[in-house]
Amino acid sequence: MPGFEYFGIEEKNEINDVISTGVLFRYGFDSQRDGHWKAKSFEQEFAKKVNANHCLLVSSGTAALSAALAACGIGYNDEVIVPPFTFVATIESIIFAGAIPVFANIDETLCLDPNDLESKITKNTKAIIPVHMCGSMANIEKIQSICKKHNLLLIEDTCQSTGATINGKALGTFGDIGCFSFDSVKTITCGEGGCIITNDELLYKKADQYSDHGHDHNNIDRGAENHNIFGFNFRICELNAAIGLAQLKKLDMILEKQRENKKLFKDELKKYSDISLRVVPDEKGDSATFLSFFLPTKELAIKTISELKKQNVDSCTYWYDNNWHYIRKWNHLKDLKGPAPLSQKQYENLPDYNNLELEKSDDIISRCISMQIKLSWTQDDINIRLNKINNVLKTVLG
Ligand SMILES: *Cc1c(COP(=O)(O)O)cnc(C)c1O
Repeated sequence: MPGFEYFGIEEKNEINDVISTGVLFRYGFDSQRDGHWKAKSFEQEFAKKVNANHCLLVSSGTAALSAALAACGIGYNDEVIVPPFTFVATIESIIFAGAIPVFANIDETLCLDPNDLESKITKNTKAIIPVHMCGSMANIEKIQSICKKHNLLLIEDTCQSTGATINGKALGTFGDIGCFSFDSVKTITCGEGGCIITNDELLYKKADQYSDHGHDHNNIDRGAENHNIFGFNFRICELNAAIGLAQLKKLDMILEKQRENKKLFKDELKKYSDISLRVVPDEKGDSATFLSFFLPTKELAIKTISELKKQNVDSCTYWYDNNWHYIRKWNHLKDLKGPAPLSQKQYENLPDYNNLELEKSDDIISRCISMQIKLSWTQDDINIRLNKINNVLKTVLG
């Protein structure tokens, strides 16, 4: 991670196809585009890759989440259960829809704890959005059966785990809709972009229309098309789709390198009895963008991350005090009302995100450190890094 580490002639060639025709729009212009349909091609290839019936490429992962919520008819006052550890976009998309995020704990998978879901379900609950964080996966089959039992929609935020699988089945295909991000630092990138996948044709059609002002996409004359639903503009540009198409062809190569590099660091950490590794429900399906591990206490985790920084071991993150990924820094969602869409009363009812009771999640995240697995590391880089990490851990753990 990220896919831009493997940029090359393939991305240039795909972009040149688009530049040479001048057609940047993903729809229409049939005679001018010289057979180049980058967004459409990406959708076909991605759907094949994850074995889903439908894929819709949009302008970002956040747009994908919004289109998914809209397609599912989730809106005013509906409740959506989410984990407190994600990228803030998951929560933004729910509030943007006029719905209310309800937080359940995570477990040692760093994803939603299936055992903490049922107590959070109310008569207003419409959906659960598990987030497959940091390249690996939630216990999605257990979450899926809870959704079935309570007749809830399941939307998977797979933005950080493109290419990950459970028993060979792609993450994002367990729910009603799976959402992916191809922003500039994700496993594969369009520069900016994202997609939804689904096997439900009606959900696909609604998302497709919603992301293009309601256009029904049923007429060669775009201006004469009908609008059956309210819509917005979440369209992808052909240039971004073109980059994504080149990157998609590199996904298997990216995953293979990440897995190979991750194993070296994982084997080293296993030598420390005080360190436990993140629980990964299917090790073989891990996309291996990150290696995440737990120290015995919060104090030792803080000491470890500060030593790693001192030793210039780059790309390590302590999520607990991170502004963008953990709930304890998210009171802006409640306080900075600005142009945001909830009513005054809804805002008053949102909990204080600094103090909401999530003891188990706090314990897990406050002991956790993640390190990004790079594609571009040489054997020398890896040896130096292993050496530094061992020095840090020996210093901290004694
Ligand atoms: C990146 C990300 C998003 C949003 O994707 P963008 O393409 O940046 O809008 C949503 N959820 C998670 C978990 C992410 O990591």
